[in-house]
Amino acid sequence: MDQTSLFEEEKPDVQETGDRVCVLVPYPVGKEYDYLVPSDLSVSAGDYVCVPLGNREVTGVVWRQAIGDGDIASKKLKSVISKYSIEPMSKVNREFIDWVAGYTLSMKGSVLKMALSSSAGLNPPRASRGFRINIDLYVPDKGLTPKRKKVLEIMADMKTRKASEIADLAGCSPAVIKAMADKNMLSEVSIYNIAPCLYPKSDGCLAKLSEDQKIIADELRKDVCYGGFSVSLLDGVTGAGKTEVYFEAVAQALKENKQILILLPEIALSNAFLERFKRRFGCAPALWHSHLAPAQRRDSWRGVAQGDTRVVVGARSALFLPYKNLGLIIVDEEHDPAYKQEDGVIYHARDMAVVRANLGKFPIILVSATPSLETMMNAWEGKYKHLVLPSRYGGAFLPDISVVDLREDKPECGCFLSKTVLEKVQESLDAGEQSLLFLNRRGYAPLTLCRTCGHRMECPRCTAWLVAHKRSGCLHCHHCGFHSAVPKHCPSCNDIDSFAACGPGVERIFEEVKQNFPDARIMVLASDTAESNEELKSMLDKIISGDVDIIIGTQIIAKGHHFPNLTFVGVVDADLGLKGGDLRAAERTYQMLHQVAGRAGREHKKGCVMLQSWFPDHRIMKAMAGNRRDEFLSVEAAEREEAGMPPYSRLAGIIISGREESSVIDVAKSLGKTSFQGVTKEGAYIQTLGPAPAPMARLRGKYRYRLLVRADKKINLQKTVSSWVSGVKVPSNVRIYIDIDPQSFL
Ligand code: ADP
Ligand code: ZN
Repeated sequence: MDQTSLFEEEKPDVQETGDRVCVLVPYPVGKEYDYLVPSDLSVSAGDYVCVPLGNREVTGVVWRQAIGDGDIASKKLKSVISKYSIEPMSKVNREFIDWVAGYTLSMKGSVLKMALSSSAGLNPPRASRGFRINIDLYVPDKGLTPKRKKVLEIMADMKTRKASEIADLAGCSPAVIKAMADKNMLSEVSIYNIAPCLYPKSDGCLAKLSEDQKIIADELRKDVCYGGFSVSLLDGVTGAGKTEVYFEAVAQALKENKQILILLPEIALSNAFLERFKRRFGCAPALWHSHLAPAQRRDSWRGVAQGDTRVVVGARSALFLPYKNLGLIIVDEEHDPAYKQEDGVIYHARDMAVVRANLGKFPIILVSATPSLETMMNAWEGKYKHLVLPSRYGGAFLPDISVVDLREDKPECGCFLSKTVLEKVQESLDAGEQSLLFLNRRGYAPLTLCRTCGHRMECPRCTAWLVAHKRSGCLHCHHCGFHSAVPKHCPSCNDIDSFAACGPGVERIFEEVKQNFPDARIMVLASDTAESNEELKSMLDKIISGDVDIIIGTQIIAKGHHFPNLTFVGVVDADLGLKGGDLRAAERTYQMLHQVAGRAGREHKKGCVMLQSWFPDHRIMKAMAGNRRDEFLSVEAAEREEAGMPPYSRLAGIIISGREESSVIDVAKSLGKTSFQGVTKEGAYIQTLGPAPAPMARLRGKYRYRLLVRADKKINLQKTVSSWVSGVKVPSNVRIYIDIDPQSFL
């Protein structure tokens, strides 16, 4: 990737009175604006400032010193109003924002907005109450309760801590601390620094690493020690101990006084991971995801910007936080589609994380049991270091995987579970072990159909079927949230009570399981049955403590969890992901099946996995059953090469969207007329497909058309696409979205 710096050498000095600065504001703008610096203010590049914009006052970041006098005369310029008291945004963070904007063809200001994601964090926190040991205190050896003694031991380092923090460390209640303050053993002081994850311990509870783990951990530690940009792919089956190994790299980076970012797909930000982190590092990491409470958001943001917060564990947006001193990024489950942001600034967090590491000149570790083809290619070509953990930790066996041929082992009419799978569930029940039936479909039935005329219930606002849900008794659109009761009369033929549910969702599998195993304890786990994090946690706890026999779950259950007594996994519809003909359908299906299969037999008991399929001869089913991942990937790579698809070429999706179909079509047609086809002057190949209505031709009431550009890798795709798209007139009721390296083709 092209990493040329977009910056002049930065002058660290405070600027002279009357100087101009270029300030970027977090709004959809493509460039910085010039402002004057009043004589009583000293402002440098990176400072967070308040500036007038139109008739508002907004927060922005000084991007650089203005060069020369600019286009606007000084007397017309407005002045910076004030400066926030916080560490400036470092040069590398600003470079990163510029880079991402250039790569994704987004407005710079929109990318900055992702970095300025907590305006409350700009101001110093209000004082909160803390405690310090009273140095004048004479403490007799005797007569102290063990808890008080422990508190004094901890506080002997003279640090100021919040009551909750001391209570955590000493394993006592905050009341003990209050009592000690009343007795003058601790003095109360104001503390201003409430950044999360201030003092993680790099030498916390250490697992004894296996030989394989040790070799890789050493390698990663070395990378962290020496610094400099490097990418490692940490590759190993589920349960191989990858997390344990990358924790060693985290510990090393802590010793080097760096900040560390661990990216996880949002869904995997589980309590189990946090507990594990706490055990290893002695405190919780700073969290970053979309459901944070505002105060948590503020504290994490400020802690990161000030450099106080040492480790952030977050979803993709955590990549844009203004780290003061970032020195290591881990991207766990690097293949996960959740790393792609599909609205606003459209970006792939794994790819941008590699860029961030490159700009910051530090190591990045991509972690997966089923690496994406893109990452694998880089490993094969030697661009990424390939570190492999070949087997499960502690001698746990990989599960036996077999395919159930649904053509022969047909479920009964209106049912979805084969005899073989039902027998296996019974066997697990008899042995006192747990089963998981996996189906990545919420609700009761994906389609509701009129038996008389064949009318299908569709969303009035989206190109999508309405999904029947038993819990709510309604038909739901999973794209826009529309819902309605099942109508009495068919809207097409007016027949009464003629609707039938077609196909299975988890709620329907529940009915079938209940019928077959009336005495078993069954749980349905999907994003709508576990709505809050607390609810999810208590459901997972129930599984771990053995209060559930059969789990029926969607992808919410597929990743990361460790259920010691789960030995059987049945995949209800292994073919599900193959429908739709998406470029990565096979790859994604393989990854999903592998993840789910990885839930079985994680401890001493060997696991068993059955995939129900109508296409048992499909190469995915064969690769799964034979545990031949690399062979599968090689074939996949060969097919992509043959078709000239990524990673052998580059794609850009152009989506035209608007409420008025005719305007959308007009814009799509103009783009089609001026699009590129054929061989460029330099001999590179470029082709544009479309325009055509998107597979999702309506979404939330908007019409959608698509074009797809496919280009040789040597073509500057961004430059080509932006000059093409900007040449087309777009009315205000139509929007064009550009998706570089698209993952979704809907
Ligand atoms: P992965 O991230 O590859 O799926 P984990 O790191 O979660 O694997 O390890 C799987 C299980 O093995 C976990 O329960 C973990 O605590 C345990 N484990 C891994 N390595 C060690 C080790 N060196 N010592 C003790 N337990 C380990
Ligand atoms: Zn809808």
